[in-house]
Amino acid sequence: MTRIYDLIIIGAGPAGITAAIYAKNFGIDFLMIGEEEGGSINKAYKVENYPGVFNVSGKELVERFKAHQKYLKVFLKQERVKRIKKDRRIFNIFSTKNKYRAKTLILAFGTETRKLNIKNINKFEDRGGGKNKTVAVIGGANAAAMKAVMLAKEARKVYLIYRREKLRADTLWVDRVEKTKNIEVIYGANVICVEGRENLEKIILDKNKKEIAVEGLFVETGIVPNTLLIRDLGIKTDRSGYIKIGSDQTTNVPAIFAAGDITMGSNNFRQIITACAEGAVAALSAFNYLRK
Ligand SMILES: Cc1cc2nc3c(=O)[nH]c(=O)nc-3n(C[C@H](O)[C@H](O)[C@H](O)COP(=O)(O)OP(=O)(O)OC[C@H]3O[C@@H](n4cnc5c(N)ncnc54)[C@H](O)[C@@H]3O)c2cc1C
Repeated sequence: MTRIYDLIIIGAGPAGITAAIYAKNFGIDFLMIGEEEGGSINKAYKVENYPGVFNVSGKELVERFKAHQKYLKVFLKQERVKRIKKDRRIFNIFSTKNKYRAKTLILAFGTETRKLNIKNINKFEDRGGGKNKTVAVIGGANAAAMKAVMLAKEARKVYLIYRREKLRADTLWVDRVEKTKNIEVIYGANVICVEGRENLEKIILDKNKKEIAVEGLFVETGIVPNTLLIRDLGIKTDRSGYIKIGSDQTTNVPAIFAAGDITMGSNNFRQIITACAEGAVAALSAFNYLRK
């Protein structure tokens, strides 16, 4: 018979890791399952808004999280969860490798980048950066601005293509984009076509049907919640799929808590610090639930 954990945390980004740190401190018998250790911050070029942490890359911060986990002996099952099924009062979690069982869950599986509906984009996206290359980034918020600045360090030219007339990124990142000589922002435009044989050769914009020769393309057009897994659980979400939670990170389903970017919490302000805070509160709520 499979062991029944008191708690399983799904997700190993800031929310899941913080929930695990607190669960460890509370003495809960728990397991953390997550596909990518550190989650979305792996993609952050620089993190400058987390107290005590500045001028470090997302990957460096992930290394610090890992060191913290190691220190506390919090181990991660690095697996992809494919299905969650409730069987009376027990949750069955099916991953790519194993089946696990738990009395309570913390859902912390974050978001993913919104997919663009452009033919063949999968073949070319998120590839082709490097020394002296000409590349394009699609998007206008922080992730896109960061990506453009990062790529510009090596690339010959970076086109930042945004559908609106003004970048949505924080002022700090807009300034950096504007001060980087080899970034050209094209406003009010959408990429409608990507072309190339083995490698990307050009993109075509809707604006004046402009064609731009590029060797790389990076898509940073916002995030959508990873809600596929919760479809069968009866968890309430908003129209976009973000999980509705109480101030104690409870969902409408008893014994299921949620934290981080996947929720509507923290006034929809999706950041490392808010994900961590929600993870801590979720662990406390799971602890209180288990004590009842
Ligand atoms: C490019 C970029 C730059 C950013 N820069 C900053 C910044 O400077 N400062 C800041 O505060 N925030 C920044 N953010 C936002 C920040 O990264 C997120 O708010 C934060 O990571 C959310 O944490 P989370 O734990 O909720 O989700 P995530 O970090 O997205 O983690 C989700 C976790 O769930 C796992 N997972 C998902 N599905 C499954 C599954 N089916 N099975 C198993 N595991 C699964 C993932 O592998 C991952 O471990 C940035 C985001 C991006 C994309």
